[in-house]
Amino acid sequence: MAFHDLNYWQDKAKNLLIESRLFINGEYCNAADNSTFATVNPASQQNLAGVARGKKADVECAVQAAREVFDRGDWSQASPAKRKAVLNAFADLMESHREELALLETLDTGKPIRHSLRDDIPGAARAIRWYAEAIDKVYGEVAPTDQNALAMVVREPVGVVGAVVPWNFPLLLACWKLGPALAAGNSVVLKPSEKSPLTALRLAALAKEAGLPDGVLNVISGFGHEAGQVLALHPDVDVITFTGSTRTGKQLLKDAGESNMKRVWLGAGGKSANIVFADCENLQQAVNATAAGIFYNQGQVCIAGTRLLLQASIADEFLHLLQEQADHWQPGNPLDPATTMGTLIDSSHADTVLSYIRAGENHASLLLDGRNTALPAAVGPTIFVDVAPDSPISREEIFGPVLVVTRFNSEEEALRLANDSQYGLGAAVWTGNLSRAHRISRRLKAGSVFVNNYNDGDMTVPFVGYKQSGNGRDKSLHALEKFTELKTIWIALEP
Ligand code: NAD
Repeated sequence: MAFHDLNYWQDKAKNLLIESRLFINGEYCNAADNSTFATVNPASQQNLAGVARGKKADVECAVQAAREVFDRGDWSQASPAKRKAVLNAFADLMESHREELALLETLDTGKPIRHSLRDDIPGAARAIRWYAEAIDKVYGEVAPTDQNALAMVVREPVGVVGAVVPWNFPLLLACWKLGPALAAGNSVVLKPSEKSPLTALRLAALAKEAGLPDGVLNVISGFGHEAGQVLALHPDVDVITFTGSTRTGKQLLKDAGESNMKRVWLGAGGKSANIVFADCENLQQAVNATAAGIFYNQGQVCIAGTRLLLQASIADEFLHLLQEQADHWQPGNPLDPATTMGTLIDSSHADTVLSYIRAGENHASLLLDGRNTALPAAVGPTIFVDVAPDSPISREEIFGPVLVVTRFNSEEEALRLANDSQYGLGAAVWTGNLSRAHRISRRLKAGSVFVNNYNDGDMTVPFVGYKQSGNGRDKSLHALEKFTELKTIWIALEP
């Protein structure tokens, strides 16, 4: 894969055409009241575009288009083989527009271009392709009834899906929803984050070019309390699939209850524990994965390994190696392909992260201080050691490159500390003892447990949450459960 150089990306950025309008029923359009909001490049603080600010009238229009095409059956009743062909063409187009999409993502979020190019965009295309390839291989069931009946259990698309996504992996997370929702035959209204709307708006045209019928994918840029909430309360939206904060997730559950009891699938926050035992066989590998697990994407990763639990006998050695490894993660210009750490999503989020660091100094000592970087909205690797487990930096999601380290002595203590959280997204265990690995994996209250790695995985396994990390099931065939209804058809047979 060619990463090019800084000049290449700067030139490309100058000539980039940015689509900033809503996409409803197969056409780009302004918001009904013509209002816009600014989307800003956090690394340069320059305004990238005035983006259409979708509100109630726009969401209603999009839902109506989605419902009409669903009821007509252009997509919902198309054969799985047909849907597969269109979605594969869609994935092809995403891949051939990889550089354009990666550049949009980096300009809009401040994430390094090497990561947008290597991870975000290929991962998004892979998600679409995985469900395209899966959908004509999913069978229904014939129930084991008496001979006097034929009972079938079939899956049908649910209808109109509202997909509400955050800004940390804008296109990737949108495609974790779009892949299974579209493959199953639903129509979708996608609401990207107001902080990162650009790739979703561009994506809509690629879907149309691939042959997706008008109305099947609509994109409404706008704010959560305007566009998002209208979707959540809409009586004709059948499912909300959401990734974002736990706070917003709770609101969506309420809105569903107050409207039509739509199904609500939530991928929410995290505060994941990364446990290293003294019998870990490759400490350097654990150090490297620990650094990537907290500093990648500037720490703005729901499943980031934010709480490092170190067995006391190896803690000093581990921390020494970790400090060295943190040198590989220093903020730089996101458009430079050599950069491994970009900026946070915006200055206001950087202020929140900085305020956690300031407050953390009252509860723990700073081994590494990531403040004082030259880039706007950037915070470098920050490590707190000997952190009290009940301090706010141990309990709350900071969503930045801030690691909190606590020492433990026994397996029981490590487990207790790891599970002592309102969240339950991920957990990792580093050990050379197979029995311990199995034992602990079963007892950790987290949707994904990693043994001797941090956050490895692919499309074949579900990404799920325990506790207040949500009930989401992104990726794998399990994601199809969110976007299909089970129907029983019981046929009485003549004796
Ligand atoms: P957020 O909850 O503020 O916003 C997420 C989306 O919800 C945005 O599109 C926003 O406009 C919309 N929204 C906000 N209020 C709304 C409302 N009342 N009704 C409808 N929509 C509304 O989250 P964020 O700051 O964009 O993202 C960061 C959060 O996402 C972190 O907590 C992170 O852990 C979480 N996250 C979770 C996963 C996962 O899979 N579990 C993955 C990535 C990020």
